Amino acid sequence: MTEPLGLFGGTFDPVHFGHLRLAEEAIGNLGLGGVRWIPAGQPPHRGAPQVTGQQRLEMVLRSTAGNARFSVDASEVEAAAPSYTVHTLERLRDEIGLDRPLVLLVGADAFAGLPTWHRWRDLFDLAHIAVAQRPGFPVAAGSLPPELAAEFTTRLSDTAGLQLAPAGGIVTFTMTQLAISATRLRELLATGKSVRYLLPDGVLDYINLYQLYKSP
Ligand code: ATP
Repeated sequence: MTEPLGLFGGTFDPVHFGHLRLAEEAIGNLGLGGVRWIPAGQPPHRGAPQVTGQQRLEMVLRSTAGNARFSVDASEVEAAAPSYTVHTLERLRDEIGLDRPLVLLVGADAFAGLPTWHRWRDLFDLAHIAVAQRPGFPVAAGSLPPELAAEFTTRLSDTAGLQLAPAGGIVTFTMTQLAISATRLRELLATGKSVRYLLPDGVLDYINLYQLYKSP
């Protein structure tokens, strides 16, 4: 069977080293053939409406360009309407076929919110889910909403399970714990404070060039 392909969605507003380490460590820890980054289209405005989807995409392109195992899917940013993850996965299944294992990568905070996603139970027919530990967000059935805790307990698998089926399992993985969030980066940038060493220099150059995340 072909190596599983990781899929990593997010607003990446902006992309930072927490994201990059998650994707990099997922490849090593889960035996993925690569990770396809999927920046979301039109996020809810969260204090930085001046940053467009194209600009978030550009920052992801800049920060992933040097890694041959990373690729970027611009379809959600380029879509006219907001895309749901389940629709993106259906499209990818059409493209990739039914056999290759797909692994949706999420941080622990995003995983806990899964039951709010459109048709969330259908995601398990389309992909596995790999949950990265993130500072402040425990991954345990007891700390999840009950309907998700039930799926978690039933579907929890070890990493080897990702190769055995194209979809349907849940795995957790450890990664270097980095308490970096895009929210915090936007706050620092809005108040003129340094974000250096929290994200790639190429992303910082782009932010400075276009004066992104400055308070109006
Ligand atoms: P925001 O603060 O704007 O909500 P964020 O930093 O959480 O942003 P997103 O683009 O929302 O970034 O996250 C994309 C994915 O990356 C999510 O699954 C999220 O859980 C995960 N993620 C983001 N930062 C980290 C981190 N420091 N450690 C582990 N996972 C992370």
